[in-house]
Amino acid sequence: MRILLQFPEGLKDKALLHAKKLEEQGNEIFISASPTFGACDLAIDEAKSINADKLVHFGHAEFHHVDFNVEYVPYTIDASLDVLDKSIDFLKDYKTIGIVTTIQHIHQLPKIREFYEKNGKTAVIGKPYGFAKKEGQILGCDVGSSATIDNKVDAHVYFGGGIFHPFGALIHTKKPFIMVDPFTNSVELIDQYREKMRKRSIGKIAASLSANRFGILVSTKNGQMNMGLANIIKNKIEKEGFQAAILVSNNVDFDSLNNMMEFDAFVNTACPRIAVDDLDRARKPILNASELMESLKMRNENKRI
Ligand code: SF4
Repeated sequence: MRILLQFPEGLKDKALLHAKKLEEQGNEIFISASPTFGACDLAIDEAKSINADKLVHFGHAEFHHVDFNVEYVPYTIDASLDVLDKSIDFLKDYKTIGIVTTIQHIHQLPKIREFYEKNGKTAVIGKPYGFAKKEGQILGCDVGSSATIDNKVDAHVYFGGGIFHPFGALIHTKKPFIMVDPFTNSVELIDQYREKMRKRSIGKIAASLSANRFGILVSTKNGQMNMGLANIIKNKIEKEGFQAAILVSNNVDFDSLNNMMEFDAFVNTACPRIAVDDLDRARKPILNASELMESLKMRNENKRI
């Protein structure tokens, strides 16, 4: 079989190893060298252009349906659970806790839950909105497993490495949020980032209030493309008397955006984290759809005063 292998950046150093194993089984193997951001970013065009019969995507679980033969090989990590002991002190005032993690540790969730229940907590595991597929799983763009149980819990626990995943969940919840990181063997209350993100959002909206020309970002990544939303946003902006154009790219490249100096602000319809994590890389404000609506509403209110 002719197969294209695709690895996220953190697993690219294992590409040759996997390629040789599959070659020994009689397959013809190619490796995608393009950047890979998530399962939203399947290298189907590359696979088709080399006439591959199949794409094998490592490191992520299924994200969305595609019309191509894709095999997902999720990457799981058996992290030490010793760090959970340290979290008990942080959670001493909370009885009911929500627990979330990433696909890498989702198989450890039953043990994590058992640990907290043995320590007198009631554990609640939420359901994702749909891009994530497992209960208790979060993605940068699917924090349903936290957001849908926010009103049922006293606090949230994220088990895993790095701030990227809990950051999204933090923005969409109100309860205390504790990050339990087995790799640094540390526990941290991360609520302070909520206020920081709220202030940044207000700053972006304020900076967009004088914008007349908007660039609407659309990604051609198969799991990120949302042309329907882009068209709705374009019509809305034009109805308000401003100019708008839809900007199409695979990766959002900030050097290119910064060269497009005619635009006063950008509106993101691609990976929602672009309007959260990458702000410092763009010279102009990048709003998400709800921030744009807030910006237009504020202008209309100002007109009436
Ligand atoms: S957070 Fe962004 S990069 Fe990650 S899976 Fe979601 S859309 Fe893709």
